[in-house]
Amino acid sequence: MSDIEKIAEIALCPFCRDWGAEVAESAVPSIHGGQKQAVYCNTCFCEGPTSETEKGAVEAWNRRAALTPPEGYVLVPVEPTEKMAAVAQQFVYSGFDWPKAVYRAMVAARPEVSGG
Ligand SMILES: [Zn+2]
Repeated sequence: MSDIEKIAEIALCPFCRDWGAEVAESAVPSIHGGQKQAVYCNTCFCEGPTSETEKGAVEAWNRRAALTPPEGYVLVPVEPTEKMAAVAQQFVYSGFDWPKAVYRAMVAARPEVSGG
């Protein structure tokens, strides 16, 4: 794989949203000798999860990037959960149906997402 292909394969930094992160040896020793690999951002200097392989480090970085929305955004499920629907239903029962209030309450009731 060429250097250009490697860079194109690595997602935007989930923290500073810049391109240019690269795979390099981490400070974590590998169980196979040498060091584990990780993706590093050359703009904000954050480090991705470590892996035994470059491919694994890139996959872990990209997974984290996909699960990290930009500032002002959060991850929500495509379909509202039972808890989100119940929160919205409380607004309906009270006769208060301002859509933004319902939306905010539903987003606040979203499930936590873990990954990366
Ligand atoms: Zn960054």
